[in-house]
Amino acid sequence: MTYLLHALAERAGEFIRLRRDIHQHPELAFEEHRTAALVADKLEAWGYAVERGVGGTGVVGRLVRGTGTRKLGIRADMDALPIEEANGRAWASRSAGRMHACGHDGHTAMLLAAARHLAEDGRFSGTLNLVFQPAEEGAGGALRMMEDGLFERYPCDAIFAMHNMPGIAQGHMVMREGAMMASSDYATVILTGIGGHGAMPHKTADPLVAAAAIVMALQTIVARNIDPLQPAVVTVGALHAGQANNVIPASARLEISVRSVDRDVRATLEQRVRAVIELQAQSFGVHADVQWRPGYSVLVNTPAETAFAREVATELLGPDRVTPQGPPLTGSEDFAFMLERVPGSYVLIGNGNEAGDAASACMVHNPGYDFNDDNIAIGSAYWVLLAERFLADAAGASRPQ
Ligand SMILES: [Zn+2]
Ligand SMILES: [Zn+2]
Repeated sequence: MTYLLHALAERAGEFIRLRRDIHQHPELAFEEHRTAALVADKLEAWGYAVERGVGGTGVVGRLVRGTGTRKLGIRADMDALPIEEANGRAWASRSAGRMHACGHDGHTAMLLAAARHLAEDGRFSGTLNLVFQPAEEGAGGALRMMEDGLFERYPCDAIFAMHNMPGIAQGHMVMREGAMMASSDYATVILTGIGGHGAMPHKTADPLVAAAAIVMALQTIVARNIDPLQPAVVTVGALHAGQANNVIPASARLEISVRSVDRDVRATLEQRVRAVIELQAQSFGVHADVQWRPGYSVLVNTPAETAFAREVATELLGPDRVTPQGPPLTGSEDFAFMLERVPGSYVLIGNGNEAGDAASACMVHNPGYDFNDDNIAIGSAYWVLLAERFLADAAGASRPQ
């Protein structure tokens, strides 16, 4: 598959410039107007049927070719983060306090480079749906696009996505069948007791003591209720109560985050967190109000599509540059919602390690990070090959008319 790598590398300069342009103009969740317009204009110019404003600022480009009936989805994300960039790049962010610190500029550029090659030179038969989603960073842009009828209007037999990962050798790809990224859920807990004089605790119901007991009791959930071979996290990240040393407060507030990489573990965590809080509070004569906010789901890659993704990566890069079954990660990703509806696989592409430059090895969500432009040719070649293999028709895939 060196011809494909070569073909995409020859054109990479244009998309590296595009990536750096997007990088200079980072936009936060659901504000990706400039980026979305840029994506939509390019796709239209290359002959895609384009819909703008899907789920807010999302864009879908569809290309139908030949008589094939299969329908493929590929997703890239477009949003940036509220971080002040500090990597000294010439193409650093021009917006104070905003930065493409997760490489979504690179994901968008890689899929655009593939889109152009597929439109002009792609050998496939069927329907190609390219999904550029807004607001991956916590605001659930994938879900918004789905609520807006993404898969009803653009049905897909399978959908794929890619994320860069610092710390992994540049251009190396990592696959994983099953749970790959964690669920993330949140709870705000308000404890209401009876405040009073610090010298007369027997006339109060102290929510601060209850809160302290709850923080400790919550630590037993991972230790005592979850299979030791299953990753799980229960973190109390904030505890607010009281103002003065001689006043027992009337209320306390806890902020909790909960993560897991298994759907059953996730359900157990919620049930136990609620039970521990409510029954501990009750034992102290304090009322607990638990506001549970479900976040991103566990991202689960389906077996057949992951095997297919592995075959494509191995054909492109050779077995030495493909990890067939990597470890799960405790980060979260809203592509998980798409995989709850459509089979598919999410893969990682190495952004570089200590052998490369510092910004490429720097972890995402860090002010020193930058997407590695050497991945544009490889990532886009992967998308082209994946589309050509997925939409290979028995009657023979067709080139553009
Ligand atoms: Zn991120
Ligand atoms: Zn990201």
